[in-house]
Amino acid sequence: MILVFNAGSSSIKASLYQKNNLEAPKISLQVDTITTQPVFKARGDNVPPPPSLGVGHDSVLSGLLPWFFEAWPIQAIGHRVVHGGIHFADPVRITPPILDDLETLIPLAPLHQPHNLFPLRWIQQRFPQKPQVACFDTAFHRTQTPLATWFALPRHYHDEGIQRYGFHGLSYQYIAEQLPSLTKAPRVIVAHLGNGASLCGLKEGKSYDTTMGFSALDGLMMGTRSGSLDAGVILHLLHHTSPERIQEILYKESGLLGVSGISHDMRTLLESPHPHAAEAVNLYVYRIIREIGALTATLGGCDALVFTAGIGENAPIIRQRVCEGLSFSGLKLDQEANLQNKICLHHPESPVEVYCIPTHEERVIVEATIVHGLS
Ligand code: ADP
Repeated sequence: MILVFNAGSSSIKASLYQKNNLEAPKISLQVDTITTQPVFKARGDNVPPPPSLGVGHDSVLSGLLPWFFEAWPIQAIGHRVVHGGIHFADPVRITPPILDDLETLIPLAPLHQPHNLFPLRWIQQRFPQKPQVACFDTAFHRTQTPLATWFALPRHYHDEGIQRYGFHGLSYQYIAEQLPSLTKAPRVIVAHLGNGASLCGLKEGKSYDTTMGFSALDGLMMGTRSGSLDAGVILHLLHHTSPERIQEILYKESGLLGVSGISHDMRTLLESPHPHAAEAVNLYVYRIIREIGALTATLGGCDALVFTAGIGENAPIIRQRVCEGLSFSGLKLDQEANLQNKICLHHPESPVEVYCIPTHEERVIVEATIVHGLS
């Protein structure tokens, strides 16, 4: 069996897969509010009684991992790791020097990388014989040309790692793997619209350009993140606001939540009669249309558009409004298919194909863990 870990700052998600059934996990669990009062939730058949969990990442893992290892024959562990820097273009089997390397990338993703790496180090120290594989959100974008990765800053910054990396790579890889069975379209734009959101332009199934850059703040408006922002706004805020506070505003208080003042959750906003909810949704859609326009230009055209993740998979009205905004290209939805969240959404006469494909990032991690951890 393969264990998949997605460890964040306040929650840990873990799923257990049987090697002969990668479609769905046998068990999936989530521990929330780790640093205050851990709450354990599990789904699946024959889940043993939950372990007792202390407060903090270390205590939670001390309870959780022996619980897994005692109940099931776990052969390898796969981890979602946000940053693989410029070197990791593929998943990697963990060794002590590689783990040291990944820790040097913490300054590039200080909010996520330390939490992602914590269970890797923890398992390495206590169960060094267990194969572990790190799968990176940045790796899929390493096929981009230098043009897509540069900022127009003094060039030494580029050499110091201030580059556009891109994220959501595990989701884009999954979608890229599904596409050949649906279409031969060479230039595809994928819209990953979850709490975090980004677009990726694919050329022949490889990442060519993407809207997230150095950090997961860039590009589209998100649940609580601002998306692209004129750097001058930050300089202005710095006159009377601390960097720590600005970070909180940009990551946790902006986006749909900030503009609506009501919620970060798209469902809540679509149901709300408040004009500020409508304004937030309008801006969300506008920014997607604008960025699809930019990617269409850099790709040299767009033959297919794919929607995925929570909003992309479940909100027909958002897909419809984005597609209406692109009607200048001739793109036309099959309204009935769209309302039913079907996979193929375009009208037969549409020159641009449209799909809704549920993403499955864990599946990419399990497969990589089998390939890199067990062979
Ligand atoms: P995460 O990035 O945390 O994995 P998800 O991919 O689950 O997030 O996406 C969460 C978003 O999807 C939320 O804004 C939620 O409101 C939205 N969503 C989920 N179901 C629906 C739905 N039926 N209609 C509109 N939005 C939805």
